[in-house]
Amino acid sequence: MQTSPPSTDPAELTLRGVGSLDEVGRLVHEDDPAAQLALALANLAVRLTAAGLGWPDLRTLQVRTTHVAELLGVYDTLTEHLAEMGVSPRTTVVEVPTLPVPGMTVALDAHAERRTESVSDHHHRRTTMHASTTTPAVHDRPTRLEALVSACPGAVHGPGSQEYDAHRMPWNVALDQRPAAVAVPTSAEQVADVVAAAVGLGYRVAPQGTGHGAAGLAARDLSDVVLLRTTALTTVTVDPVARTARVESGAVWQDVVELATRHGLAALHGSSPDVGVAGYCLGGGIGWYARKHGLAANSISAVEIVTGDGLLVRADAEHHPDLFWAVRGGGGSFGVVTALELRLLPIEDAYAGMLLWDVAHAEPVLRTWAAWAADAPDEVTTAFRILRFPPMPELPDFLRGRQVVVVDGAVLGDDAFGASQVSALRALDPEMDTFGRVPAAALARLHMDPEGPTPNVGGSTMLRALDEATIATFLAEVGPDASPAILGAELRQLGGALGRPAPGGGALDRLDAAFCAFLVAVAATPEMAAAGRASIDQVLAALAPHGTGGTFLNLAEQDGVDPRTGFAEPTWQRLASVRAAVDPAGTFLANHPVG
Ligand SMILES: Cc1cc2nc3c(=O)[nH]c(=O)nc-3n(C[C@H](O)[C@H](O)[C@H](O)COP(=O)(O)OP(=O)(O)OC[C@H]3O[C@@H](n4cnc5c(N)ncnc54)[C@H](O)[C@@H]3O)c2cc1C
Repeated sequence: MQTSPPSTDPAELTLRGVGSLDEVGRLVHEDDPAAQLALALANLAVRLTAAGLGWPDLRTLQVRTTHVAELLGVYDTLTEHLAEMGVSPRTTVVEVPTLPVPGMTVALDAHAERRTESVSDHHHRRTTMHASTTTPAVHDRPTRLEALVSACPGAVHGPGSQEYDAHRMPWNVALDQRPAAVAVPTSAEQVADVVAAAVGLGYRVAPQGTGHGAAGLAARDLSDVVLLRTTALTTVTVDPVARTARVESGAVWQDVVELATRHGLAALHGSSPDVGVAGYCLGGGIGWYARKHGLAANSISAVEIVTGDGLLVRADAEHHPDLFWAVRGGGGSFGVVTALELRLLPIEDAYAGMLLWDVAHAEPVLRTWAAWAADAPDEVTTAFRILRFPPMPELPDFLRGRQVVVVDGAVLGDDAFGASQVSALRALDPEMDTFGRVPAAALARLHMDPEGPTPNVGGSTMLRALDEATIATFLAEVGPDASPAILGAELRQLGGALGRPAPGGGALDRLDAAFCAFLVAVAATPEMAAAGRASIDQVLAALAPHGTGGTFLNLAEQDGVDPRTGFAEPTWQRLASVRAAVDPAGTFLANHPVG
């Protein structure tokens, strides 16, 4: 084997897609992974030599394959070759749907960099010589963090850097996440690299998009955890014929809504345009179409995910079906999702809007809404809220410094049907009524959720029904005569398709409750956070006797949530066994860990 002549000049080589091609670029050994791998390695050797580099200069090697099972059968070809060359570059295997040439099942991506004698090498050598009589000082070896940073160039940032502080900040800026390092990979392959390097160095990995659901994570000790932010992965594509969207896992709902509506299509997004598609869908996802079309988790038709062994795989009904089942509602415990495929619906518009009253009308409005919502057709999805706004100048006049009651939501159907549905509430003479025909895109902002970084504390509970006792408790805690430190006390209407098992659904295929109570308080200062937390805990405790005992984990931001309560016991057991299979070392840390 030829190697490059010794030199102190810096030289680098990055190669992508080295395959089993002959000298004129024709594929050799079609559909034969063993032969393709051997020839790809030979071609890699030629390319290294041409660049004046050798096998010892190889730093990373990525094997991309369309058939991971077949590749693993012939993987010895690679490991034996590397052993023969006396090298051990960091190696990852990534499953991909296609490679550049039809019939190609294996391709190699490599990064080589000439090993020059650096100041630290000199230092290390001196230390090593000295070490023949004395133990080398710990600081002479690269620390675990340094090793991680250098294994993933540009993607990992440690404490003390500006990037670390910028990227550890979640959407909920009241939370202080202090992980061992923050990784911001810019491609799915780089996600696989980060996971492989982190696992190799004994770190855990916490996937995170926007940080809307960061409360569960920030409450944990993250000193041994790499926080993997997917914020750089934001590409969304829509296939209007197949009615699907492929959404990279750092995208937020607004990205999808905008693109889908151009084709007359809608996704099962939630109430906030800047909530992350991944965290929302993996945790269930209830939005304005939910009582007709169910949980967003069950609109996932595939995920691309990096599992604990650093493999990037596609999980769908045919491939890795157990993993596919688990991620649909089971959350972020099974790997780092790099992209999701979602089924879209042919919805162009809806009869939607809001009705608003002063808080003095809370009781009659809640009683009317509760009776109506329980029996409403599946086409109707609404929410009831008591909102207490501070006198902030940026708020519109009708909200600034006021306490109000709002019912908002959407009706799927024509105007006459929509009007007939909201007529009982209209009869209560709201001071504002915006219900009418709106384009589907408008639903992403209907709820007026805060966009951009927002300090808050929250919590939720699932209610069996809105009977007399539950209504009385809710009003006593947050009604006109109460003064909780709570911005929004919300009741979301469940039932309909949300209450029925989704055909072929995932781990969360329905919600076993009639309403979900969700409470949120502004936490601009530690004192406000403490007051908000105390008020929310008090309301949750008061509502507990009326609850199902279950939890909708997406909205569960209170302390001490037991993720087990998010699922029926057999589901929990199955989630645990899938987790044990795909992440036996317990690498991944979700905000609500399962298994
Ligand atoms: C203002 C507001 C409005 C909301 N409205 C709704 C609503 O209408 N309906 C609803 O159902 N929920 C709603 N939620 C809850 C929201 O769905 C959850 O907070 C959800 O977890 C947010 O996802 P994210 O990716 O933005 O958050 P993150 O905090 O980034 O992620 C939450 C968790 O999801 C997992 N995760 C995220 N990305 C990945 C990934 N790429 N791979 C693997 N795991 C990953 C991780 O376990 C992570 O800890 C709302 C929350 C807020 C704050």
